Order: sequence, then structure tokens, then C-alpha cells
Amino acid sequence: MLYDLILNLLFILVGIFAQHLWADKTGDYQSKVILTVVSSITISLCIQFRIYESFLPDLAFIPYIIGGLYGGLFVAAILFIFMMLASIFLYGLTTSIFSFVLIFALLGFVCGLLSKKFLKSKMSEKLLLMTCIAYCYTVAMFLLKQGDEINLLNTLLFLNIPAIAMLIIGYIMESIRGTIVLRQQIFKSEKSEIVSQLAASVSHEVRNPLTVTRGFLQLVLEDENLPPEKRSSYIKLAIEELDTASNIINDYLTFAKPAPTNWELLDIKVHLQQIEDIILTYANMNSVKLDTEFATCVIQGNKQQFHQCFLNITKNCIEAMPQGGLLTIYTSIFQKHVLIEISDTGIGMTEEQINRIGEPYFSTKEKGTGLGMMVVFGIVKAMKGTISIQSKVGTGTKISIRFPIAIPQ
Ligand code: ADP
Ligand code: MG
Repeated sequence: MLYDLILNLLFILVGIFAQHLWADKTGDYQSKVILTVVSSITISLCIQFRIYESFLPDLAFIPYIIGGLYGGLFVAAILFIFMMLASIFLYGLTTSIFSFVLIFALLGFVCGLLSKKFLKSKMSEKLLLMTCIAYCYTVAMFLLKQGDEINLLNTLLFLNIPAIAMLIIGYIMESIRGTIVLRQQIFKSEKSEIVSQLAASVSHEVRNPLTVTRGFLQLVLEDENLPPEKRSSYIKLAIEELDTASNIINDYLTFAKPAPTNWELLDIKVHLQQIEDIILTYANMNSVKLDTEFATCVIQGNKQQFHQCFLNITKNCIEAMPQGGLLTIYTSIFQKHVLIEISDTGIGMTEEQINRIGEPYFSTKEKGTGLGMMVVFGIVKAMKGTISIQSKVGTGTKISIRFPIAIPQ
């Protein structure tokens, strides 16, 4: 009996560790899918290796309660169905199945209902609730079992062991979660600290427009046969870029606290076209060819930040193609959002680099600052967009950004 009990506990513990390891890897420690899958496996193991030849109930109810409390009604319902199927599959229809179904349905329902409140409470309250639920369960099971080998010792063991097991498991679960939450908080506060340090890193962002200005001026200087209207348009663009530089400095001071105050409607075609004009010289300098196709559609955002965002991305793409290559920018319009895809045929990134991109100061370049992509992520988020990156070493990188459309077509 003791052996079975320890085995059951072991299953549950391994389940909890596996769940948190997995959740830690995917970065979503509240994932209901992971919770459901792991709980289901643990439940079936506990039922399969139930505490035989003893008066104790098996411990499958522990992952069941945990699933319900941490996952809510939906997870509880899935686990309930799974549990019933597993029991029937392993043991067939027994006479006590109806009371069994009733108890578990009630248990799952109560846990699911309490889930929202449970997740917000303190650790001690959580443990108290888990233990109370476990006691209710054992009492119900005890009443069901009446008649079997009842004596004082058995009764005491029956009533207390499952609840104590629940308490221990709950404590371990909460401790692990506590460390994860703490780590995330530390990470967040570190990030916000870095954001305020950003003001000091303005130089990096100002370098973009300065490089472009330099490129235009050089063109004007070197090419004496330039038609006058081209010449003046280059100079005009150079001046605009200088304005951008000074705007960026202003913006940066407010970027630490991104507030969507001066939001305007932006036609992405117009602005992507401007961005293309701006990067054209930089691309030519690096023998990178451009291929673009822009659809007209209006989104909400800040013009300066929109430019900044796409300049940072395209600049990275061009820098990823030191031997030259092709940079494509395509847009496609869906019902509620627009998708902007920027692809290069450059060096690409490893899995680890993709995961770290956007982290402050992560750079693989000798003179990189590792701030460009962090700014991109911040801007896309502020404009209520999403960003995803696909990359393959040696093949290239594709960056897909979606923005909600402000005025549907
Ligand atoms: P920086 O350009 O100063 O290095 P970023 O934040 O702009 O900083 O980019 C961080 C890192 O992400 C780069 O150093 C590079 O390793 C990687 N990266 C970004 N975009 C690309 C891309 N298109 N192709 C390959 N690697 C990229
Ligand atoms: Mg960069």
C-alpha cells in the first residue's frame, strides 16, 4: 500500500515538474493546453496504478482538482470526460460508477467555478482551499465505501492521507509557480529599467537618418550630371531625414513611456513608399535589390514610429546581406488586418537568435547596439500589432507584421 501511495505521489510530482518545465520553455506558464495534457496523463497513470488492496482511494483526484482549479471549468470538463473514459476503459462499468460519476462531476464543477477566485488568492488560502476540497472528496468517498473494513485506524488514514497528499502537492506546485512569477517580475522590471536608459542610446536611432542623409548628400556631391529636379529632391529628402533625426530625439524621451497621444491615420502605401525611397540608397550601397508591392489601406499609429519601425527592420535585413541579395516588402490585406511581410535572402538566424531577438542589447554585429529590434517590438505593440519572425541560417529571414485596419475597405 505504501509503495502504491508513493508511486502515485511520484506520478503527480513528475507531472507537475514536467508541466512547469514545458511551460517554462514555451514561456506561457498559464497554458491550459499543457495543464490539460499533463493532468490527463497523470490521471490515467494514477488510475492504472491505483492503490490496490487497500481502503484508500487512488490519487487521481489530485491532478483533477489541480486541473480544475488552475485551468477553470473548461479544463475540468475535459478532465472529467477523460477520467470517466479512462476508468471505464480500465475497469469496466462497475456498480458504484454512478455515485462515482456524480462525485467527480460535482468536484470538477466546484473546482472550475472557484478557479478565478483561486488564482487570485494568496498561497495560504490556496492551500487551505485545496485541502478542504480534498477532505470533502475523501468524506464522500468514505461514505461510498461504507461497509469495507472499517476500523478506527483505517478511517483515520482514509480521511487524512489523501488530504495531506493534496496539501504537499499543492505546496510544491505553488512554490514552483512562485519562483516562475518572481523571475518574470524581475525580468520585467529589468526591462523597464533598460527602457528608461534608452534615452542615452538615442545615438543609435539617430544614426539611421544620418546615414541616409549622408548617402543623399554624397550622391548629390559625386554626380555632377544629376538633373536639377533630382538634385533638389535628394536634398529635400536629406532635410526631411535630418528633421526625422531631431524628431526621434524628442520621441525617444517620450518613448520610455509610450503613450498613444498623437495617433493619426496612416496610409501604409504612402508611408512604406517613403520608407522604400529612404532605404534605396542604403540598399544600393550594399548591392541589395528591392522588390516591393504595397496595397492601400489605413491603419492607426504614429508616423514617426511607423517609419522608425520599418527602417530598423529593413536596415537589419540589408545588413544581413553583406554580399548583396534581394529585399522584398509585400503587403496583403485581410478583412480586419493588414499583413506586411519583409523578407531578405541574407545570413538568417539560428533558433536561439530568433528567441533572443528584441532582447535589449542582443546583437551579433561588431558595432551593433542590439536596440533596433527592441524598439520595433515596442512600436508594433503600441500600435496594437503583432510580429512574427521566421528565419533559416543561410537562406534568409522573413518578418511578418500585422496591424489592425482602422478603416475597413
Ligand atoms: P543590431 O542591428 O544593432 O545588432 P537589432 O536589435 O536591430 O540590433 O538586431 C539584433 C540582432 O538580431 C542582430 O544583431 C542580428 O543578429 C539579428 N537580426 C535582426 N534582423 C536580422 C535579419 N534580417 N537577418 C539576420 N539576423 C537578423
Ligand atoms: Mg539593427
